[in-house]
Amino acid sequence: MTRDRPVFGEGPEDAEVLLIGLGPGYHENLEGRPFVGRAGKLLDKMLELAGWRREDVYITNVMKSYLPENEATDEQVRACTPYLDRQMDIIRPRIIVLLGNVAVEYIFHKFRLQLASMQKMHGRIFPISTLTMQAKIIPMYHPAAALRNPTLKSTIEDDWKNLAVLR
Ligand code: URA
Repeated sequence: MTRDRPVFGEGPEDAEVLLIGLGPGYHENLEGRPFVGRAGKLLDKMLELAGWRREDVYITNVMKSYLPENEATDEQVRACTPYLDRQMDIIRPRIIVLLGNVAVEYIFHKFRLQLASMQKMHGRIFPISTLTMQAKIIPMYHPAAALRNPTLKSTIEDDWKNLAVLR
């Protein structure tokens, strides 16, 4: 096992906004908190653009254990997602922001939404309504995507600025 600390997530239990990333990296694994490394610094900037305070939103990941290669197998996703499902049941967020493809694939599958490429879906609002939850689901590029592809930076920033109208 590669993990030092599980990273379940943090934020208020009654948060209106839930952010779902991929999984803990090096720094998250050491601290036991989500998004505290380089991607976390970027996420903090994006939250500012949306006008949201970090302490008001609940931040978690699909995966709860360290991913040294930043990739999760289907089996690992299956092992971790019951925790994510439970988190959603408890928090019952009004807005769910999906950070990157793994979160998008899991949540779209769970709520039977029609999946398309991130290029097509980023920043768009997908409303869902279940017996226990009504929410707006918004796929976003992972904040770290701007590190790999600097041309995406302004697109990602615009998407976050547009979230400001939601609250
Ligand atoms: N990237 C993620 O997707 N989640 C984290 O918690 C940190 C980096």
